[in-house]
Amino acid sequence: MRQATILVHGSANDLLPPGRRQHEFTISFELPAGVRDLIQATGIPHVELESVVRNGRPIDYTDRVDDGDQLLLFSKYPLSHPPESAAFILDVHLGRLAHYLRLFGIDTAHDPHTEDAELARRSVGENRILLTRDRHLLMRAELKWGSYVRSTDAREQIREVIGRFALRRLVRPLTRCLECNGVLEPADRLEARGRIPEGVWQRHQDLSRCASCNRTYWKGSHYSRMLRLVDETLAGVS
Ligand SMILES: [Zn+2]
Repeated sequence: MRQATILVHGSANDLLPPGRRQHEFTISFELPAGVRDLIQATGIPHVELESVVRNGRPIDYTDRVDDGDQLLLFSKYPLSHPPESAAFILDVHLGRLAHYLRLFGIDTAHDPHTEDAELARRSVGENRILLTRDRHLLMRAELKWGSYVRSTDAREQIREVIGRFALRRLVRPLTRCLECNGVLEPADRLEARGRIPEGVWQRHQDLSRCASCNRTYWKGSHYSRMLRLVDETLAGVS
């Protein structure tokens, strides 16, 4: 039996059992093991890591680990700057988080019928960060960007994601369609008449429409409620 030691630095410690967090621990394996396999056996998906150092030298996931090796794992998150492509794709279970991200104006794909393989394919193909609470999904080798959502509460999740990806300065509340993620643009008032209740049309001068699904939005009482929610949420982000 061969053995290597592992020490994790930073936020990926959250993904270890409590006794292993911030402590060096030993793992055993039979044959020289692939770096990715060995790390994933600890429960940490590779997308949560920035780099791996073996015996003092950076290595990549195609390298192998042998008896007596010491591995240091450095976490990728939280980012200090927003990622180049601050676009996301969420798995089927994160519908409420998807709704919040769109409310904050963040480009967020979410379709409740997308299978795991398709989520991974779109994440890579469309340069979208995959968010999920399924670690095995994040362990797919083709993934470059992704993160395990720690909280199970949607309000906590949105704070978590804004903090982890440094999204605060990208927040543009109420600029995206909550239904389809399309970008909102000013609506032609006459064209919008008949597509919303007449009373609403009479009361609101300022209408927007979704450039993708053509849904009409207006600044009713829900509008100020949502702005307040955005403010309250951002106040809780460190
Ligand atoms: Zn839309």
